[in-house]
Amino acid sequence: MRPYAFTRPGSVRAALAEADGGSAYLAGGTTLVDLMKLEVSTPSRVVDINRLPLDGISVDSDGLHIGALARMSDVAGDQAVRTRYPMISQALELSASPQLRNMASMGGNLLQRTRCSYFRDLTTACNKREPGSGCAALTGHNRMHAVLGTSEACVATHPSDVAVALVALDTQVHLESRDGTRTVALAEFYRLPGQTPQVENDLRPGELITGLTVPTLPWATRSLYLKIRDRQSYEFALTSVAVALDLDGARIRGVRVAAGGVGTRPWRLGAVEQALVGRTATPDTYEAVVASVAEDARTLPHNVFKPALLRRTLVRALVTLGGRA
Ligand code: SF4
Repeated sequence: MRPYAFTRPGSVRAALAEADGGSAYLAGGTTLVDLMKLEVSTPSRVVDINRLPLDGISVDSDGLHIGALARMSDVAGDQAVRTRYPMISQALELSASPQLRNMASMGGNLLQRTRCSYFRDLTTACNKREPGSGCAALTGHNRMHAVLGTSEACVATHPSDVAVALVALDTQVHLESRDGTRTVALAEFYRLPGQTPQVENDLRPGELITGLTVPTLPWATRSLYLKIRDRQSYEFALTSVAVALDLDGARIRGVRVAAGGVGTRPWRLGAVEQALVGRTATPDTYEAVVASVAEDARTLPHNVFKPALLRRTLVRALVTLGGRA
């Protein structure tokens, strides 16, 4: 690990004053410290933000408010989150391990780097780690990689589970910098890799995520995060879906759908939502609507199964939530 300066400010203003182009904010450290040990990330200054008052979890008429430093386990176990937004709790509890969930922050979760193994291996080509060097995954092991939103420069998936649920719920991200505050939709916060896969999101130099707001959605009480993976613990998604369903009898009145494990960013399936609204909630309906999902996917030699697996994951989630009305 390379030498770095370390500071531990006590306020957001002080943290922003400490940050510069070469610095990194430290929250739970569950991604950053690993990457620093591997020298994939080499900040000249680490700004420990754990003293900042950004760990609240509350609900009001606008929705659910989650501080950037709230720990994954605290959010997952919060009674209001469990009852009003079950898919947020489920996505968190299906992530990582209990020890990691106790340390990892919500803001850090949204900013975690890809789990593409080549990204963490300094001996291989990786455009995300070293722009212009190439992409070892294109001809290497690419079973876990993305099939939606990819480019010739990068095919890495976004690794977060909870970001998938949050995108489905139209979550807003609150940001603060020395220039002031701003709020952006989480779905717009993440960028596609294009020719600049090293730029993963809309965060500006020195800018800090301070919190999230999940808008009120009463029918999110009927929601589910379904994750398909190679083993049932401590594993990233091959495919996942976050679904919330609003039924009027057997008729679908509203639906939210996003997918994980398949895209270079959390993938909202707006066309599926539009096609389902007004239809009768039956397995035949679900099968018909999802038949065209990911038909434009660009598969790689080892992940040709992903589009079909995504469709089956989505049907299972809809059947689980909507039954066989
Ligand atoms: Fe790097 Fe992206 Fe290629 Fe993985 S898929 S090696 S992160 S450029």
